[in-house]
Amino acid sequence: MITKGPRGTADILPSDIEKWQFIENTAKETAKTFGFKEIRTPVFEHTELFQRGVGDTTDVVQKEMYTFNDKADRSITLRPEGTASVARSYLEHSLYALPAPVKLFYNITCYRYEKPQAGRMREFHQFGAEAYGLDTPAVDAEIIAFASTLFKNLGIKDLELNINSIGCKECRANYNKALIEYLKAHSDKLCGTCHERLEKNPMRVLDCKNPECKVAAANAPSILDHICDGCREHFEETKKHLDNFGIKYNIDPSIVRGLDYYTRTVFEFVSHSIGAQGTVCGGGRYDGLIEELGGTPTPGIGFATGLERILLVMEAQNVKFPTESVPEIYIASLGQETAVMSLCYELRQQGIWAECDLAGKSLKAQMKNADRSQAKYSIVIGDNEVETNSANIKDMTTGEKEEIKIDCASVAAFLRGEVLK
Ligand code: ATP
Ligand code: MG
Repeated sequence: MITKGPRGTADILPSDIEKWQFIENTAKETAKTFGFKEIRTPVFEHTELFQRGVGDTTDVVQKEMYTFNDKADRSITLRPEGTASVARSYLEHSLYALPAPVKLFYNITCYRYEKPQAGRMREFHQFGAEAYGLDTPAVDAEIIAFASTLFKNLGIKDLELNINSIGCKECRANYNKALIEYLKAHSDKLCGTCHERLEKNPMRVLDCKNPECKVAAANAPSILDHICDGCREHFEETKKHLDNFGIKYNIDPSIVRGLDYYTRTVFEFVSHSIGAQGTVCGGGRYDGLIEELGGTPTPGIGFATGLERILLVMEAQNVKFPTESVPEIYIASLGQETAVMSLCYELRQQGIWAECDLAGKSLKAQMKNADRSQAKYSIVIGDNEVETNSANIKDMTTGEKEEIKIDCASVAAFLRGEVLK
């Protein structure tokens, strides 16, 4: 008998589902106010998409992907993130024909073969957004404002926003020279992977999780001392927009998200309430991505946030979730199953959550179930009630009773607080 799911996966049980739904619904509502539309892409893609779209010098591609050959011997990968798939879809369906910026969001599961721990799963959930087609700082600010508003709408308080600019292709080349020189002088302290990165993509070294690499990178030259005038102006304008919105941020030159196609603005939202896995959201401008995937050069910027980590932060901060929903009414039967079941059914047709017994239980047992269900009201229907078309409806919190008619319309009106009798 198989009684345990694969390592790094988690079932979301009914007892927790309303928290998840609250987070997801809030994210969707926030997306709506910023004018982003949902896009859904497949769980698996051609492996090459992520090799190119995420970058083959990243941890994600080098170590973490769920890759397998399908029956026709094609290399397939379960998506480790959303951006590459959305970019593929944008190209495949010519979404660039739409007026810019094309604003998309996604709410997906992702798969990474990592060492499972709090806030780090092998199957996890991401909500993310992308804006394509415009390279103005206003779009950078809008994306950051979207993420920031989402966290505010969820009631999260302690998130720190850290931003940086990692320049464009041109200024990055200058920076890389200075960085390589520095890293070579400290190469004895770098891990094996970082030795490779040093040659292929030195900025990835700044993002390595290995503690010794972190120490070695601590005094590396800052990208902000190397960006060109155009990139500096873009960064200054982005900050001005954030100031204008009243969104607080720190400037953190150590954020690199060092993929080749990342350009200019990069950012992270970090929580100090949940320990090591504190990065709740990451994002940045990726003006080179669409070109990398074979399209004409198209600017873009996005963010992705992990729902498991959001939930951890909300729980750590005792953020109030909306109260769990409960049935409006429990209808108990005293020898009138058919009448009770049809009233229950009719109320449900009216969009009202009604419950009744399906197991032929005694009245006492039914009332116990009514209590347990936390229904707001209860009613007992026996021969007399059916005959007179009336019954006492009981407020389960106060114990107060009131006589009402028990046809569907009357009960529905009562439950909706509409005028009675
Ligand atoms: P980390 O540095 O924690 O490994 P990352 O840089 O790999 O994060 P991104 O690829 O930027 O993460 O993904 C965006 C967000 O997705 C992260 O900020 C985090 O909230 C979430 N996330 C990433 N990997 C996992 C995971 N294995 N389990 C749960 N959430 C994750
Ligand atoms: Mg990671």
